[in-house]
Amino acid sequence: MSVNALYRDDFYLSTAEAVVTAIHEDGGIELDQTCFYATSGGQPGDTGFFERADGSKIALGQTRHGATKDIIIHVPQQGEASPAIGEKLVMHVDWPRRYRLMRMHTACHLLSVVCQYPITGAAVGEDESRVDFDMSETIDKDEVTAKMMALVDENHPVFVQWITDEELAANPGIVKSKNVRPPIGLGRVSLVCIGENSAIDSQPCGGTHVSETQEVGAIYIAKIEKKGKENRRFRIRFGTATDEV
Ligand SMILES: [Zn+2]
Repeated sequence: MSVNALYRDDFYLSTAEAVVTAIHEDGGIELDQTCFYATSGGQPGDTGFFERADGSKIALGQTRHGATKDIIIHVPQQGEASPAIGEKLVMHVDWPRRYRLMRMHTACHLLSVVCQYPITGAAVGEDESRVDFDMSETIDKDEVTAKMMALVDENHPVFVQWITDEELAANPGIVKSKNVRPPIGLGRVSLVCIGENSAIDSQPCGGTHVSETQEVGAIYIAKIEKKGKENRRFRIRFGTATDEV
């Protein structure tokens, strides 16, 4: 059943009420609406718990899409109780974890601004993210860190602009990712924009991001690995390079 994905319009919504609409054989729960992000586009799905009317909790292990993007399935941890269809729950996203993912995800966008090569893959993590670029040049990681931190310190706004699938098709140049498909199929596509009037960047992305670059905080490029002749893997971590020593 199609879900109202509340996080698409509010990345900072960590709790809301919802009604159970379906239960899958594996215990997966579908709701009429959700603030839980489902795994996609390199960003892991949310964890957290549902609070039932009697105050008891259902702990969630992961959130994933069903057969299509408008289906979101919340999978309880093993041994958790199963709610009834029609039951009203209060959703609670594990916010500290999600916020780290939002900061990291935004950092990946900043890296793509600093490093303007086609992206061949990306994975956002709580402690480390990686972005793969189609490039053969050697680049100094401390220089990349300095440029990314300049964008963080300048505190640019980060916002979403919705365009239609047709508008995206008419402007293929805005897609930086080679292998990751932009989030089409919902009729509208979210463009993640950085800077006043998108001056710094705009690219299609269905993930969750912070609303100004300063929120990313201290990040640095821990490693640049050579993965084949024309592929470089960048690893972003929280903190500063001196934390490594
Ligand atoms: Zn993104």
